[in-house]
Amino acid sequence: MDSNCLFCKIINGEIPADKLYEDDDFFAFRDITPQAPQHFLIIPKKHISGPSAVTDEDDQLIGRMMRVGAEIAKENGIGDNFRVVLNNGEDAGQSVFHIHMHFLGGRAMTWPPG
Ligand code: 5GP
Ligand code: ZN
Repeated sequence: MDSNCLFCKIINGEIPADKLYEDDDFFAFRDITPQAPQHFLIIPKKHISGPSAVTDEDDQLIGRMMRVGAEIAKENGIGDNFRVVLNNGEDAGQSVFHIHMHFLGGRAMTWPPG
């Protein structure tokens, strides 16, 4: 828990969010500025600033985040076609420094990303 972190505040209910899923380790909610018809974020309750801050202690947690996110994608009708994005660092587009996987779906995607 980082008291200055927006996503920690969403986890503890200080800031409201459109929640899709919660368990002991994860919280998933719709992105406030959706970039696709379906766009949600899954975050661990443990505050980790981003992908480059993941340690071997987190191996199982981050693996499970992928699997739980894919299940939520399925429940929301995008289980067959979706994109997962993790941004690391400002130049890569990271704006919230609490690790999050974006799940985007419901439209065709282009490559390369911007
Ligand atoms: P990043 O740019 O760090 O990869 O992704 C952060 C995401 O969080 C952005 O897509 C942004 O729209 C979303 N976001 C920022 N603030 C809020 C908020 O208060 N509520 C929700 N639901 N999403 C947010
Ligand atoms: Zn946090």
